[in-house]
Amino acid sequence: IRDDLVTGVQTCALPIYMTRTLVADTTKKIGESVLLQGWVDSKRDHGKVTFIDLRDRTGKIQCVGVGMMGEVTIESVVQIEGLVKERPENLVNDKEPTGAIELEVKAYEILNKAEELPLTLDTDGKDIGEEPRLRHRYLDLRRGRMQDILRLRSKFSRAIREHLYDKDFVEIETPMLTKSTKEGARDFLVPSRFQPGKFYALPQSPQQYKQLLMTAGFERYFQLARCIRDEDLRADRGFEHTQVDIEMSFVNRDQVMARVEELVKDAVKKVGGKLQNEKFPVVDYDEAIKKYGEDRFDLRTEQEKQDGTLAFAWVVNFPFFKKVDKADAAEVRDGKSGWTFTHNPFSMPLEEDLEKHLEMEDIGSIRTTQYDLVCNGYEVGGGSVRAHQPEVLINTFKVMGYSDEEIEASVGHMLQAFRVGTPPHGGIALGLDRLVMLLAGEESLKETIAFPMTSTGRTAVMDAPEMVGEEQLKELGIKIVSD
Ligand code: ASP
Repeated sequence: IRDDLVTGVQTCALPIYMTRTLVADTTKKIGESVLLQGWVDSKRDHGKVTFIDLRDRTGKIQCVGVGMMGEVTIESVVQIEGLVKERPENLVNDKEPTGAIELEVKAYEILNKAEELPLTLDTDGKDIGEEPRLRHRYLDLRRGRMQDILRLRSKFSRAIREHLYDKDFVEIETPMLTKSTKEGARDFLVPSRFQPGKFYALPQSPQQYKQLLMTAGFERYFQLARCIRDEDLRADRGFEHTQVDIEMSFVNRDQVMARVEELVKDAVKKVGGKLQNEKFPVVDYDEAIKKYGEDRFDLRTEQEKQDGTLAFAWVVNFPFFKKVDKADAAEVRDGKSGWTFTHNPFSMPLEEDLEKHLEMEDIGSIRTTQYDLVCNGYEVGGGSVRAHQPEVLINTFKVMGYSDEEIEASVGHMLQAFRVGTPPHGGIALGLDRLVMLLAGEESLKETIAFPMTSTGRTAVMDAPEMVGEEQLKELGIKIVSD
């Protein structure tokens, strides 16, 4: 038992006039009475004395209760009134910001009692299976590692926003209920109640809307856009992702790449990331395949892998079209002629290949203005200069075997916009989840998302997808048939 502590104080109602002090500020309040609020991070019972570490968003502090707090459970939310005191010399912990002080508890109140936890929170969580972590994600997110990642993500997003605002970009939202846009994946469909039998598609990307914003004269657009693609699930990927979606008018390929490179470097540095190169290398697609066997390569040395360096590079001069993969339903649907686009059907071919594109000759050799940004072996972004002349877009769809009627039905609205004064334009989408994953030194995208999906496609915490009632189906004009 510590004899430096005053004994005999009992719990009582807390004075409501006290304002909250944050844990990080307690170091400046030695000798003062404060009110702290937070979670019980840990608890040690030593007979009559109970030690708890109280945690709030700014840190942890040791609180000492003499003859009280024995009833407090781990992860309960409490408020504590007490005296900030220097710790006895021999009990100072140099490793903690509050390691030289402690709170002598005068009174406390349990605001929400935590029952037995379904998850332990004293490890980094990687020892626990995905299913319980995501089912109880609100708890899982309390661990320090997850707190750090989501705060890093927020800081990084802010740095991106601030950079783009400074460069005159306008942040604009685009619809979530929309028409299919071609990003090469299956669409998620949403039935219309007012027009039974008809469906909206959730956006695979804001591609067409951001181009239409160029027609609308904004010249510089961005959005932290949610994109939803019905792709085969992988261990580290769900159906939703967030991209930093950017579009600019009156630009060529080099100008977009330079602008984006400046953005990425600035935002990475603002969150303390380490870059391999001030100037990102630009690699030809053919050369990448020859040299690395793939177009998402890792330029880091072993040492750089250890110290968390980010090695960015651009890949350019991709083929515009490829032969349809018959196993891929979306490709089969888009590539009626046996050819489909490699990246983005709205791209402009390289200028030296434009002639071939308009003549529809030697399809396999036509290259696109597409540029991909790779980092540490991952694709972290991709974009292109767009076709802004109707003939070019029409020809892309002709190459894929679309009839005039099919082209009109599919992209007629874009062609119309391209006939009323659309400037030359280009853009990119950067994968926000992936960039944060690399910055945080994590290996799964799910670690960067507050509520990611499970590997089986179930939502975190809440059980979706879910059956719906007969009434609801009837309203939508939908019948479930099982065979
Ligand atoms: N829409 C493309 C994508 O989501 C990116 C772009 O070309 O801007 O991958």
